[in-house]
Amino acid sequence: MSFCVDTFMQDVIAKNPGETEFHQAVREVAISLAPFLNENPKYVDAKIMERMVEPERVIEFRVPWVDDKGEIQINRGYRVQMNSAIGPYKGGLRFAPSVNLSVMKFLAFEQTFKNSLTTLPMGGGKGGSNFDPRGKSDNEVMRFCQAFMSELYKYIGDNIDIPAGDIGVGGREVGYLFGAYKKLKGEFAGVLTGKGLSFGGSLVRPEATGYGTIYFCEEMLKTKGESIEGKTVLASGYGNVGTYLIEKVAQLGGKVVTFGDEKGYVYDPDGITGEKLAFLKDLWVVHRRPAKDYADKFGVKWVEGRRPWEVPCDIACPTATQNELNGEDAKTLIKNGCMCVTEAANMPCTEEAYNVFKEAKILYSPGKASNAGGVSVSGLEMSQNSGHISWSAEQVDGMLKDIMKNIHEQCVRYGKEKDGYVNYVNGANVAGFVKVADAMIAQGIV
Ligand code: GLU
Repeated sequence: MSFCVDTFMQDVIAKNPGETEFHQAVREVAISLAPFLNENPKYVDAKIMERMVEPERVIEFRVPWVDDKGEIQINRGYRVQMNSAIGPYKGGLRFAPSVNLSVMKFLAFEQTFKNSLTTLPMGGGKGGSNFDPRGKSDNEVMRFCQAFMSELYKYIGDNIDIPAGDIGVGGREVGYLFGAYKKLKGEFAGVLTGKGLSFGGSLVRPEATGYGTIYFCEEMLKTKGESIEGKTVLASGYGNVGTYLIEKVAQLGGKVVTFGDEKGYVYDPDGITGEKLAFLKDLWVVHRRPAKDYADKFGVKWVEGRRPWEVPCDIACPTATQNELNGEDAKTLIKNGCMCVTEAANMPCTEEAYNVFKEAKILYSPGKASNAGGVSVSGLEMSQNSGHISWSAEQVDGMLKDIMKNIHEQCVRYGKEKDGYVNYVNGANVAGFVKVADAMIAQGIV
């Protein structure tokens, strides 16, 4: 048997109609794995790819709750338990209006590869709801989280499935979800990660995705004899990921000059450091305020209705959401001299953008490799919970650095081409695949 991307994709599209984000994520993996699969037919014969695109289980449920005005609201909840070959399902919960089954499945599929790359024993899962926490009171968010958990608790557990945060789900939401689980199950378990420090959370978990992305970026730059120091960097979002990415760049002597939201972006040519960074750190994570507040406060440029990719830079870090950087944006970045694109969000670059970066042979890393720091520290939180211990910030940060370095090495090992160019997409996909695939073969047809 041989593996044919077109035949495989026709089947995936026929079985999952209309799920465009899921098709996109699977196609990217199928294209990059095809040569490897045809050189290693045992994976084709065992139909590993066909099995990996079929979630082990999808849970979809009604989430009714009452808002502050006394009106009944109905949202839809999801948990996609994608793959448990190398560990319990693990992955975040996303609360955003754009959440649907396609988005959940693409994220769960990506998570399986990402978690495999971390070197930790975690399978892949993802969940969430089309609930929008923006503009809701704390009480509304709490009632929603309780209603959401009143169904989800049946399907999760510290050795079964361990959710965490993602877009729209930060420390506040994880706290409410944890409280609801504890009440319903009557047990204090490490069933969620990203918890508060006083109830089992890990130091450095809030910072881990942003910091980890920059540690990975440093490893990429090292291959060219470069570093972050003195570099101009673009970020797009400023939530749980963007904020700490900006902080790490500043710590390493680079400067981030942009960030934004769906309304536009801030351009601060002097870089977001010092007092401005302190303001930014509270802007969304504490106050949930729009990006424009920063421009108003510091008198810097606000660019309405556009994305930051038009600003000249050395490094671009998409930190917001899927498909936020398209083929045209990619061409503009290359034209302006960008040498490195490190994804902090999940699948933020379109297929066209990826092809532009590949053609130009610039450094480009997919989120499943470079943003794996978040889930890695979640894995470390699980270890601390099960051992009833807590590690210092230095210990966790040191482990995070080692993990990101290791992921980079795996990408280079599997992604280096004959002319020395490292295709991080191929590297991440093959390395992530092999571990899961071997485990699946060893465990039989289950
Ligand atoms: N949502 C994050 C991700 O995309 C973190 C997941 C977790 O910590 O489980 O990897």
